[in-house]
Amino acid sequence: MKERRKVDLPDNARPILEQRYLRKDASGEIVETAEAMFWRVASAVAGAEGRWGVAPEVWAERFYDVMARLDFLPNSPTLMNAGTEGGQLSACFVLPVGDSMEEIFDALKWTALVHKSGGGTGFNFSGLRPSGDVVRSTCGVASGPVSFMELFDTCTEVVKQGGMRRGANMAILDCDHPDLLSFLKAKTKEGRLANFNISVALSDAFMETLEADGDWSLVNRRRGETVRTLPAREIFDLLVESAWATGDPGLVFSDRIEADNPTPQVGRIEATNPCGEQPLLPFESCNLGSINLLHMIDGDDFDWKKLEKTVRLAVRFLDDVIEINGFPLPQIAERSRGNRKIGLGVMGWAESLFRLGVPYDSDEALRRAERLMAFVTASGRDESRLLAEERGVFPNWEGSRWQERGIPLRNATVTTIAPTGTISLICGCSSGIEPLFALAYRRKVFEERTLTYVNALLVEELKKRGLDDEARLRPIAEKGSLAGLGLPDDLTRLFVTSHEIDPAWHVKMQAAFQRHTDNAVSKTINLPEEASVDDVASAYLRAYREGCKGITVYRDRCKATQVLYRGGGG
Ligand code: UDP
Repeated sequence: MKERRKVDLPDNARPILEQRYLRKDASGEIVETAEAMFWRVASAVAGAEGRWGVAPEVWAERFYDVMARLDFLPNSPTLMNAGTEGGQLSACFVLPVGDSMEEIFDALKWTALVHKSGGGTGFNFSGLRPSGDVVRSTCGVASGPVSFMELFDTCTEVVKQGGMRRGANMAILDCDHPDLLSFLKAKTKEGRLANFNISVALSDAFMETLEADGDWSLVNRRRGETVRTLPAREIFDLLVESAWATGDPGLVFSDRIEADNPTPQVGRIEATNPCGEQPLLPFESCNLGSINLLHMIDGDDFDWKKLEKTVRLAVRFLDDVIEINGFPLPQIAERSRGNRKIGLGVMGWAESLFRLGVPYDSDEALRRAERLMAFVTASGRDESRLLAEERGVFPNWEGSRWQERGIPLRNATVTTIAPTGTISLICGCSSGIEPLFALAYRRKVFEERTLTYVNALLVEELKKRGLDDEARLRPIAEKGSLAGLGLPDDLTRLFVTSHEIDPAWHVKMQAAFQRHTDNAVSKTINLPEEASVDDVASAYLRAYREGCKGITVYRDRCKATQVLYRGGGG
């Protein structure tokens, strides 16, 4: 084998790769190095190039290089499965659930197949008749969406994605479904629906009714009957209280998402994937990939040339992934190949801001976020246009919004901001666009030994200023943040962590990225434990006002709280 660039893995990455990513033989022995893994992925993905008469070898080397430098990584299923039998390479799927036993159990089977292959699934359960409605064939009573969700939850628990990755689901319910109120509270009992995130789809009409303090109707669509009418405010309050207490439900703004649907002629957006960043049609899938921004910095700005080169290579890589992807169902293959959606995003944003000397919760950071993401989307889209010249537009282009705008593209969408939960650990950078949760953490390595890891960029800065002595590092390690430690103000201001950032800034940052992202943005609005129900309400309203496509909040330690409180922090 040709001598290739060695991968300089961060310490914490090795055990992750060994557990789940590197190939093992029948006896469970690891038979792959990190270099061999990246080569397996690079050569498999570049294999697609041959279809257009391009020599795959050249691209395999380039794909290898960009991954081995940890400049760009595709989503986990691509790293795990590319170059293996039947390799399923996408992280995100949406499956339809119809209102009959056949359709529900079909969806359940499809879910098992997708989870087994390493993907996460999203559903909209609004098509199911409400609980208490009549079932004609048995003269019985329907049990409603929430009870069927339990089935999917159990199925996920049992399949556990072949031991590779825990299954994840998103359940969405439209805000006029008669079971809305039980859906809102579906996760308030600890441990229930543990494999689900849940979100309510709020329409513009609902938001206007809420604004006008009007009444809202819950409707049995099958019968065309209004089941109940209640103040929109009451629904919103219940929703927010539940989110305050448990983190669920989140919101998706369904009309806004549909307005950005690039192929309305093919169908409506049905749901999002589990973490909310990828709206999809029924049976559609998407493969994601993210650029490590920490590697794209030169001095006090981004290295725009390097970034552009990386974006273009990543778009080509992700388009090639669609070609070699082993889709788990023929319907998914057809939809996914018809739209060819890809989701390129970024990771390491918070640490890039450390490096650039810009505090996360500042107008300057928002400006930089917009400039960055506008650039990524523009370069990515231009690459997709060039690919369309070479390979043809995506098959559903005719009749799409892109045709209306006269822009030939290879991919119906190009950008998505993923959580990058694992791939950011492999790269050793902060995840997605999230601020750091803590600047230091302690980890038990052996029974008697605990190691403290302090953020490398912080240590570097402390060193520069001669402040890196043990007496200063210890309290940082204990506290996880610089607040109140008497360090220089500019340092404390710059190295700000998640709970010190006002929720409004979390939302503003999400909105700044959303403005320049084709799909959606994965972001958790982290609130301190003492945050009030009103804080959650204002974050939700702000997200709508600022143009986000959805929102998720998480109040520190809230899962331990099982009782709902009204008003104030409880
Ligand atoms: N996902 C999943 N199970 C998991 C983690 C992620 O099914 O345990 C899916 C889910 O659709 C999520 C997407 O993968 O929205 C992307 O997650 P992330 O960016 O954290 O994945 P990574 O590529 O870093 O592993």
